[in-house]
Amino acid sequence: MKTSAGVLADPDTLVSRVAAHRAEAGDRAGPELLRWLITGPLAGRIALVSSFGAESAVLLHMVSVIDPATPVIFLDTGKLFAETLVYRDALAGRLGLTDIRSIEPDPADLARHNPDGTLWSLEPDLCCHIRKTEPLDRALTGFDAWITGRKRFHGGARGALPTLEGDPGTGRIKVNPLAPWSPERLSRYLADHDLPVHPLVQDGYRSIGCVPCTRTVAPGEDARAGRWSWLDKSECGIHGDGI
Ligand code: SF4
Repeated sequence: MKTSAGVLADPDTLVSRVAAHRAEAGDRAGPELLRWLITGPLAGRIALVSSFGAESAVLLHMVSVIDPATPVIFLDTGKLFAETLVYRDALAGRLGLTDIRSIEPDPADLARHNPDGTLWSLEPDLCCHIRKTEPLDRALTGFDAWITGRKRFHGGARGALPTLEGDPGTGRIKVNPLAPWSPERLSRYLADHDLPVHPLVQDGYRSIGCVPCTRTVAPGEDARAGRWSWLDKSECGIHGDGI
């Protein structure tokens, strides 16, 4: 079976591709893993997916140093904080990133499922599907791999996150270069490179998504405790179970 991207979705093939990359990558993580993949085995076939959120400047900076023309996919759900859009433009300009792709939901999907904009409160999984999952699938057409900003310290299902995994739903490889990084190491990287943080961080937002589904977190709470906090939901659906 092939996806719309033309990449093989055969689970056995994906498992062996991921295993081969893991064996070759060894214990690389962070910028070393990124540089190796972007300039080596996945050159021209990998994109960074960034929310331009609380910790996004770290990966965006690493990618800009390696190759500022690396495609960066940004899901503009239509429900984001205005501050996020301003931050995206300012940070992209400062880092010299030349291929930012802002992807919006299909207007037909919005008209059909979400004409009054309240779907997030009625069917949040469907809302995330039409505003995030489907647009991302479209944007990743032609790519064999994508880079995510997930870390193990986020907790939950991310607690055992590998740096390289396969997505059996699409046949793509997902790269999590910061999986083993701690909050302290992220803070140090931001300071060392004098990177601006998202303006809402100073207001108590530590994981920043759509306005209706994001709240501030109290000291001691998990960074992602403010996402869909009234629901038993911790992920938007773009990250299925990896292999
Ligand atoms: S995070 Fe909330 S508003 Fe954003 S797509 Fe998901 S349900 Fe909709």
